[in-house]
Amino acid sequence: MQDRETDGHRARKRFGQNFLSDPNIIRRIIDAIRPQAGEAMVEIGPGLGAMTAPLIERLGHLHVVEIDRDLIARLHERYTPAQLTVHEGDALKFDFSSLCADGGQPLRVVGNLPYNISTPILFHLAGFADQVKDMTFMLQKEVVMRMVAEPGTEEYGRLSVMLQYRFRMGRMFDVPPGAFRPAPKVMSSIVRMAPLPREQLGAQDEALLGQIVTAAFGQRRKTLKNTLREFMNDADFDALGIDAGLRGEKLSVAQFVAIANHCSARG
Ligand code: SAM
Repeated sequence: MQDRETDGHRARKRFGQNFLSDPNIIRRIIDAIRPQAGEAMVEIGPGLGAMTAPLIERLGHLHVVEIDRDLIARLHERYTPAQLTVHEGDALKFDFSSLCADGGQPLRVVGNLPYNISTPILFHLAGFADQVKDMTFMLQKEVVMRMVAEPGTEEYGRLSVMLQYRFRMGRMFDVPPGAFRPAPKVMSSIVRMAPLPREQLGAQDEALLGQIVTAAFGQRRKTLKNTLREFMNDADFDALGIDAGLRGEKLSVAQFVAIANHCSARG
């Protein structure tokens, strides 16, 4: 059986704890983030501090959001309040805009994210895009492939459309299981997300866009005519020049936006 104890801490599966232990990989991730002194940054799930230490060294001060009380106690022992502000709790409920409340610089978000909550955390964070400069995450490779997927591919879905609508996405490099303790079963990847300027986004009603994309991918094997029945009729598809016999996975982000705008203009 694999030893689940690292640095005197027993890794908790329910918190998705796989701690980075390869110094070369840690260095590559920090180089990819390029932290600059004085920047406002938050790390989600600092764990045993593999990335926290080099980030504080470069930034001077860092915010972290961590759910595990044992790990929080260690962080308090190791760092002063001038170096580290610890937000104890669930990142899925954390108001990231509270870290930019003083109207200061846009926030940078980083983290080796707990894999068991990767999709909900990405949707939660997407809600703060207006306050964010960029986000750099490690996630399981399969999720990153879905985030950056192109239309017409098997990986392309709701996550791809909703994130690519709001962010410029870039997959940076892969990280093998051996870089962690305990080692996860899957390959990981680093992904960077930079919010697109508001004027480039184009959806008049973003909530409606979300509903349409959710419906289009709700039943993957059905055509748009079926999945979007509630929103679009044949004439609507004709007006947009979109074939209602296609499946959602064939539509580009721009075509989803065109459908949402057509529906909101029609009322
Ligand atoms: N950053 C560390 C590293 O790279 O070694 C730890 C990464 S580990 C994959 C995920 C971390 O997220 C753990 O420290 C875990 O306790 C924390 N975590 C899990 N669920 C969380 C949640 N809902 N909110 C905040 N932190 C969470």
